[in-house]
Amino acid sequence: MRLCRLLVVGAPPAAAALAVSTFCFQVTNAFVVAPHDPLLRTPPTTTTTTTTTRLQSSLQQWGAVQEGELFPLAQELFPNAITYNEFLTYIVDTLVQSNFDISKTVLGTSLCGDELNRPLEQLLKKIFGANNQIGGMAGCPLGGVTSFRKMKSAVDPNGGNCVIVQGTHAGISSQGQVGSGERPNKQGEGDLCCASAILASQYVSGVYNGAIAREASPANPMDASQFLVQEMLLPHAQRLEESQNKMIELPYVLYEEQLGFLKQIIADGSQQQGEQQPGQVAVFGGIALNTPPGYVDYFVPLNGNLYGPDGANTWSYF
Ligand SMILES: [Zn+2]
Repeated sequence: MRLCRLLVVGAPPAAAALAVSTFCFQVTNAFVVAPHDPLLRTPPTTTTTTTTTRLQSSLQQWGAVQEGELFPLAQELFPNAITYNEFLTYIVDTLVQSNFDISKTVLGTSLCGDELNRPLEQLLKKIFGANNQIGGMAGCPLGGVTSFRKMKSAVDPNGGNCVIVQGTHAGISSQGQVGSGERPNKQGEGDLCCASAILASQYVSGVYNGAIAREASPANPMDASQFLVQEMLLPHAQRLEESQNKMIELPYVLYEEQLGFLKQIIADGSQQQGEQQPGQVAVFGGIALNTPPGYVDYFVPLNGNLYGPDGANTWSYF
């Protein structure tokens, strides 16, 4: 319901029209395969001998291993963080155990447009092929129902499924400053990362403290997406203001809002005039941590869920 409100309030007429446009989909007698391996209830954790072995046999076949040194500060600041390589290994292993055919798994992502998010996207594309972008600023799933349905229209009705990797991100500088991203051509010079999230948090702080007035609509229609990110954060102004480290709290708040949106998008987008589209949808979400050049990146996994062809949540991986 909140997405509808934002679309109506925040989007120009053309975008609002897109959000309610319709697609024709092939309808099949789709089925749900529920995984039963209890190991699937185990959350992804950091590297062990077992996962290292899996990395060699799993990701390397696609050339989807990210090279670089470990960056211990990432796990000091975010204790549950794992490397991209570990995260991708977990995704592949989990999907295989869920009877997904990787060659018939359609990829969707809801990640920020910041260039620092492209390495994760590139690694995913090596495994699953072409990517359907559902995300926008700060990783918010601004592509909405229309974008989701477009992704599902690509599913092979003969055993195909979808996987969505979603979440926001935060840069970590060489000195361990969260919210500061170092670029390949600017090593040692951190800039705002995620810029969209941080700028939105500054707006929210201003509104909360009475320094600025709340915008009823985008101040600049050419920057409407940023307005939507601000609207997502506004209900959490007090939580952000009272947090011990706003730059660490910020991605968690944003991720939680994004997940709520995505769940609603899956529920609404899986129905087309009362008919189901084929294919299950596995979602893996959390916070990407962008490290300085030369280091591997990290991901804080916060949810792994399986949705049936009707959009119902059929399984939680962790
Ligand atoms: Zn960003």
